[in-house]
Amino acid sequence: TPVTTDMRTLIKEVEKFAQQRKTEIEKLKIREAYRKEFMGNVSHELKTPLFTVQGYILTLLDGAMDDPAILDKYLNRASKGVERLIYIVNDLDMITKLEAGDLNLSYTNFDIVELVQSVFDLYEMKAAKKNIALTFDMNYSNPILVHADKERIQQVLSNLIVNSIKYGKEDGTTEVSIEDLIRNKTIVRVTDNGEGIAQAHIPRLFERFYRVNKSGSRKEGGSGLGLAIVKHIIEAHHERIYVESDYRVGSEFSFTLEKVKKFPVVDVSTKTT
Ligand code: ADP
Repeated sequence: TPVTTDMRTLIKEVEKFAQQRKTEIEKLKIREAYRKEFMGNVSHELKTPLFTVQGYILTLLDGAMDDPAILDKYLNRASKGVERLIYIVNDLDMITKLEAGDLNLSYTNFDIVELVQSVFDLYEMKAAKKNIALTFDMNYSNPILVHADKERIQQVLSNLIVNSIKYGKEDGTTEVSIEDLIRNKTIVRVTDNGEGIAQAHIPRLFERFYRVNKSGSRKEGGSGLGLAIVKHIIEAHHERIYVESDYRVGSEFSFTLEKVKKFPVVDVSTKTT
């Protein structure tokens, strides 16, 4: 039988529909693979601290708790393991929200100088254990007002400062500095003279669960999510994040923020660049 024009149109429609379905299926497959990889990573991350905690509890039940000194020591270690689990779960929760775009930022104007100081106060003890000096290169005695989500920026600063201590060397330094950029932008830098990162690792550094030195990171209690969280938060603010590092020399992580100006900044240039 001859193929009519109507049939040709119909065949085209069917083909188009089939193609659309194929693309949808491909997308779902990618999402499914991504989900599987994520779940695999998550269980792997949780297993080590869970086994550690279980180990201490089983040893205690096995009779070790008859000795009060050991009881105390092992309970403390088990508690540290639980603390670590909570930390990992919190990071997982945060990265899930960030990746799904479920985290609404609440913007306010706040003093970034004061925020850096408060984060330093939080990690002073941790730094002191490695005799690392936390220094704030401040020519600014005045407040610097920025427009951002304060709680999230505090998390960014915390993650970067904690990393600079974790991967910093004994008797080293962690320095934070703030500098004005053009127009209404300011840049915050966190610099250390620690173990540094070889160039080959830099492109993957901000991927979740990516670590240069796996055992080093786990020993330090890292979840492998810190930098991924940092990048998401900065990008959610539509700001920029940079890393400069060299193996055995040190690292500098920096990010931009919007400064609060008395008057709005208007770009009056005629030529576009
Ligand atoms: P982690 O929990 O492993 O610290 P992050 O996402 O915060 O996870 O960092 C990823 C990896 O990047 C770390 O495991 C470490 O190898 C490397 N890294 C991060 N910050 C620094 C730094 N300041 N100096 C050297 N290496 C770093």
